[in-house]
This record gives sequence, structure tokens and C-alpha cells, in this order.
Amino acid sequence: MDKPVLFSRYDAASAVSLSTLSIQLLEQQKKTWPQLTSGYASLEGIRLREIACDGFSVRMQFNPGRLVSSSAKVDPKSIAARKCFLCRENLPLEQQGVLYGTETLVLCNPAPIFNEHYTLSNTEHTPQSLRDRIELFLDLAKDLAPHFSVFYNGPKCGASAPDHMHFQASPMNMMPIETDVCQPERREVLRTMGSVTMLRAAKLGREVLVLESTHREELSIELAAAITAMQRLENVDEEPKINVICSYADGAWRVIIFPRAKHRPDVFFEEGDKKVMISPASVDIGGLVITPLEKDFHRVDAALIQSIFREVSVPREFIHSIVEAL
Ligand SMILES: [Zn+2]
Repeated sequence: MDKPVLFSRYDAASAVSLSTLSIQLLEQQKKTWPQLTSGYASLEGIRLREIACDGFSVRMQFNPGRLVSSSAKVDPKSIAARKCFLCRENLPLEQQGVLYGTETLVLCNPAPIFNEHYTLSNTEHTPQSLRDRIELFLDLAKDLAPHFSVFYNGPKCGASAPDHMHFQASPMNMMPIETDVCQPERREVLRTMGSVTMLRAAKLGREVLVLESTHREELSIELAAAITAMQRLENVDEEPKINVICSYADGAWRVIIFPRAKHRPDVFFEEGDKKVMISPASVDIGGLVITPLEKDFHRVDAALIQSIFREVSVPREFIHSIVEAL
């Protein structure tokens, strides 16, 4: 492997944890990769605002560094016309990574949303698909604990490189949903299968299915079955529209699934002053709503957040139908 230069490797025999190696990578890259240095410098200028909605809250983040990502054209024609920014031969010269196992590179994200934000990119140019890599997803979450959660944006649901398989990692519990789903009053248990508990997280203004388990293989089977069920309900051949966040703590995985009705809300496609630059992917639907435009940061209110969440989320019956189909 010539590019990127390997910062380090991680495998089951490694003496240092993957989360520690990732933190060391970020420290080194901030010193040696100017684009990353300025990406993190601009993160210091972000602003945050809590918006209390009906039964839940979101945090708005004004982050001008995300303009390219939020406004990215992700239709097949535009994707085919651009150079893939996750392919090794196109990575900046200064970029280094931690090789995880044989097919995943931990890379620093140069347009961060979090104080530590990584892209976990496949070493090959292969399409975004969760079903083929569920166990990898669970393993990454376990090996990046206790510092990080791992998340996935479906190819039609916010992935800015739908043609190149990647996950992302963020500091654990930085998305409000990660703590929301732990509140007992929201936890509506729908079914238990072996070690796997399936529940709907209620009163969140969008539909959320949660799978929890201590058992990697059983969880992997049920997550694959849930994806198949969503695919049938959506009546599509390709992967259903999903965002998924996974974390590992106290010996158990928690997988938070957002089945989506659509990617971008209608207000995103309005012209002129009516346009609102919110393009929801995992982080946003997870309750940390990013906008790269200051005017949107100030004018977005609870009513608009609730309306966007309703519009891009599936109806409540959809969650019950998934669980019944398992
Ligand atoms: Zn690629």
C-alpha cells in the first residue's frame, strides 16, 4: 500500500487499543496536514443552540465547514463525474491512516462536526452497503469503545460517497439520540429474540428502532433481517433508506436505526430565501442538526425541525411492521 502512508495497524493482537491509535493519529495529522489543521481551527468557531421540541430537544450546530458536504450532489451522474475522495490514490499527500484488519482505514475527516471525527473507509472502491458488513460495523463499534460510536449513512440517505464503502466515528454520546434512547419512559419494548431486544424509542418526533444485545452473531442476524424487512416494506431491490448509529458499552451493543421516507426535505430544494440548508444524515436525525448557513442557524425553530423530522422519517406503523416481519 503506497498511499496513504500507514500511521499504524490494528488487529486483534495489538497492544494498543483502536481508540487510542485513532486519537494518536488525529494528534499527528493536526500537526502535519494543513487542511485538517484548518478544518479543526474552523470547528472552534462553530455555534450551538438548543431547540426544545415537543417531547425532545435537538442541538443546532452552525458549521460553515460543512457547506460542501451538506450541498453535495449525490445523484449517480454527479458521482460518476467526480474523482472519488475516499480512494487511496486521490487522498491528499499528507493524509495517513490506521489500517484496521485487512479492509478498513481509519482516516481523519477534514471537515469535522466533532472534536474527534473519523471516516472508516474501505481500502477498495466498493459501493456503500451495510448488509455486507454488519459484523465489521459491530466489531468497529466494540474496538472503538469506550471513546467512540460508529455510524452509517445509507447510499441514498446522506452518504457523500455512496460509491465508496465507509462508516464514520464520533465521540460517544455526542448525538442527543444516544442518551435519549436510554430514558426508561421512551423505551417501548416490542420483541425479544434470544439475546436481542428490539424496541421503539418513543416521543422523539421521528421513528427510531433500537436493537440491543450482548451477542455479536445473534445481533448480526437480526440486524440483517431488519434490513431485509425494510427493503420489502419499501419495495426496493437496493438497500432501504437508513441511518444507523452503533455503540458498545458494558458488554453490549446498541444499534439505533432510523428508517427514512426520504433523504432531503422539500425546504432543501426551495429557491432563494425559502431554501433551508439542512440535509439530514445520521448526525442530524440523531439530534445534532448541522447547518452551514448562519441565517438558517438563527431562523430554524421547533416547528421546522418537527416538520423536517416528520417528513424524512417513516410512519409509526413501519416500525411495528419491521418487527413483525422478523
Ligand atoms: Zn473510491
